[in-house]
Amino acid sequence: AQAPHGKSLKVLLAGPRGFCAGVDRAIRVVEEAIRRYGAPVYVRHEIVHNRTVVEALEAQGAIFVEELDEVPPDGHVVFSAHGVPKTVPAEAERRNLLYLDATCPLVSKVHREAERHFAGGGPESRHILMIGHAGHPEVVGTMGQLPVGAVTLINDAEEARTVQPADPSRLAFITQTTLSVDDTAEIVDILRERFPLIEGPKREDICYATTNRQEAVKAIAPECDLVIVIGSPNSSNSQRLREVAERSGAPRALLVQRLDALDWSVLDGVNTLGITAGASAPEALVQEMVAEMAKRYTLCIDERTVKEESVIFRLPAPLG
Ligand code: SF4
Repeated sequence: AQAPHGKSLKVLLAGPRGFCAGVDRAIRVVEEAIRRYGAPVYVRHEIVHNRTVVEALEAQGAIFVEELDEVPPDGHVVFSAHGVPKTVPAEAERRNLLYLDATCPLVSKVHREAERHFAGGGPESRHILMIGHAGHPEVVGTMGQLPVGAVTLINDAEEARTVQPADPSRLAFITQTTLSVDDTAEIVDILRERFPLIEGPKREDICYATTNRQEAVKAIAPECDLVIVIGSPNSSNSQRLREVAERSGAPRALLVQRLDALDWSVLDGVNTLGITAGASAPEALVQEMVAEMAKRYTLCIDERTVKEESVIFRLPAPLG
């Protein structure tokens, strides 16, 4: 049907977009914990960085806290998908809290890599350079797998050029899972050139979901006048999608939490709109936005899927 004013809008939907297997699993952990143990179930930190997800779980009986001292004795507590420093489960055990770890298995894999490089701090130990963003909970969690001083954070290419490790012959690197693939490749190149003996993954530790979502948005960006990334401002992979869209040829890209945060005037003069969603943003938010657009424009929707995904993670013990 023709929209009231008949204006037409071409919408390119990037695929894959939205939920990854780690986010899907983390949400199922909270839901299953509530089903088994009854409400409330406490969750340390936003389970995934998305308000809509958090509010839906709150409605089911989840209570979100920032630190464990907000959880009463005998409470059930879930750790978020981003992972936690070792001190957190240790503290939970000390306080006899029943905890479930919703850390994404792909983040846990990086934790294990870090421990392998550290090698217990013995003669085989390597100093670790972690490429990531200061303050992000995943970075805090990964650095917190090892004693203070074992890991140095590298925020950007400049820090990679200037870092002065004590022993350049005994180094390793790891990365955050949700970085820009292109920026990280540049940083890794700098490190490998400066420290030829550095050990690390073949490329980096960016996860499949981050890589695929960036590829998908790159594929549509050159055709778009505007790209909307549905996601939260504190979601690292959503922020990266916005940057990748602009660098890949979209004149403008915006991060929008959800429909009620959309300023419709941004669509003035737009003929082709790209839409994607961060790994923590539910597909319902995409569909809701498209449905609202259909009331205002005559839409021509084109799904552009660059890759099919079939990754599913099992629930952690004791829920699995
Ligand atoms: Fe896991 Fe990647 Fe999803 Fe993070 S974005 S939860 S690392 S799959």
